[in-house]
Amino acid sequence: MSDPDCIFCKIIAGELPSQTVDSDDRTISFMDISPATRGHALVVPRKHTRDLLEIDHDDLEATIVAAQRLARRVKERLGADGVNLLNSCGQAAWQTVFHFHIHVIPRYEDDPLQLPWKPAPGDSDEIAAAAEQLR
Ligand code: AMP
Ligand code: ZN
Repeated sequence: MSDPDCIFCKIIAGELPSQTVDSDDRTISFMDISPATRGHALVVPRKHTRDLLEIDHDDLEATIVAAQRLARRVKERLGADGVNLLNSCGQAAWQTVFHFHIHVIPRYEDDPLQLPWKPAPGDSDEIAAAAEQLR
């Protein structure tokens, strides 16, 4: 259920401080200590699970529903103009804490965040080849 070396498990157990903003039977949500924008929070399952590939469906559902709850709240209470949900799965995808979490990042018209890739039309054969591998 919990991993003694995991900082999010320690937060859930109350062994490390956090600014908790929401909780239910399966999840807790707390403020990110290095916020991308004002109100940036993390939603985590109470049960330790490494990442998106390992989380069970009930915890995944509870976590995304809690993220929606917070997304609505940041719009209502912080006046956010939009919200990004972000999950990083694996080191190559920027995951640094290996306890599944969804970032809830409030977005403001004048915030400095930028899309991390430059959208440009891809090669249609290569897109089709990748699609074939995914079917
Ligand atoms: P990721 O890089 O997607 O795995 O996200 C991990 C997030 O956890 C980062 O945004 C960190 O700022 C955040 N974080 C790390 N330690 C803590 C902590 N003790 N309390 C709150 N947020 C934390
Ligand atoms: Zn954990």
